[in-house]
Amino acid sequence: MKTILIICIFALSVGALYNSNAATLNREMTLADSIKVDPVCKMKVKPSTSHKSTYQKQEYWFCAKGCKMKFDKNPVQYLKK
Ligand SMILES: [Zn+2]
Repeated sequence: MKTILIICIFALSVGALYNSNAATLNREMTLADSIKVDPVCKMKVKPSTSHKSTYQKQEYWFCAKGCKMKFDKNPVQYLKK
């Protein structure tokens, strides 16, 4: 009887662990979807920012006007790895 109880507790905790992992994963995926990286300073920026540029049909987001201006001046410099 005691063994069954232990198995039950174990199963419950594994289930809880799995659920919390799934929730974390979902949250991270949502974050990855809504957060953009400033190609100039590598800062994370929200896509709702007004500092935005389009280069070769690809949109880029910036933390500030200064970064956008740097990028617009020489986009290739910030896109090459
Ligand atoms: Zn920046």
